[in-house]
Amino acid sequence: MLTVEGLKSCYGRIEVLHGVDLEVAEGEIVTVVGANGAGKTTLLRCLSGIQPVSGGRVIFRGAPLTAAAHGRAALGLTQSPEGRQIFTNLSVEENLRLGAYSRSSRGVRSDMAESYAMFPILEEKRHLPAGGLSGGQQQMLAIARALMARPSCLLLDEPSMGLAPLLTKQIFDTLKTLRDRGMTILLVEQNARAALGLADRAYVMETGQVIISGMARNLLTDPRIRDAYLGT
Ligand code: ATP
Repeated sequence: MLTVEGLKSCYGRIEVLHGVDLEVAEGEIVTVVGANGAGKTTLLRCLSGIQPVSGGRVIFRGAPLTAAAHGRAALGLTQSPEGRQIFTNLSVEENLRLGAYSRSSRGVRSDMAESYAMFPILEEKRHLPAGGLSGGQQQMLAIARALMARPSCLLLDEPSMGLAPLLTKQIFDTLKTLRDRGMTILLVEQNARAALGLADRAYVMETGQVIISGMARNLLTDPRIRDAYLGT
């Protein structure tokens, strides 16, 4: 579904992605793990069109991905950004509606009902300002809002950031449910243990490059990963 070939990107004159290759097949969860500053967020920003690419290419559903950022959601590629970036003054429901801006309004109501079924707490708080939600609830809202665009591939940046282990588990269980329903997910995470436990395949990034890739369950027991990223 998504192929990244030799992707390079710079901030000013400094290149921070040095030719990243990765692949996400339909219906799988692929995770990109790595330390702070490895380039994970930059990679996602390139895919969602917020960050300029200086080399390589991205193929999405068989065609080179060249649309501007706002057009990518309409193509089926939607990002739920790091730090959630929900609209704190708007209600939960208004945030969800905004997630559907790039598509036709048909089916918005039923999709919203589906979001509420997945995250009942959001329905309970649907008329309240989103800024009053807890961190975990805001993360649920960010994911639900991304789903309102009806993506075929969901890009997630650090959904576990700042969450207690129990909430992280709840969010990751939701991602599992989404995969079971056929969603394709590219998940960037610093919580390598949780991400490798969930994903089908994984890439490890270090200083702007992929250094290891493979089946997630194999990487969980790989001594190089255990020592550097799992703290064991
Ligand atoms: P984190 O988990 O901390 O977000 P990351 O793996 O996502 O880390 P990036 O945020 O993509 O890494 O950063 C990759 C490199 O680019 C780092 O060296 C970082 O310092 C640098 N960088 C990130 N954003 C900018 C920016 N706006 N301007 C200049 N350099 C940046």
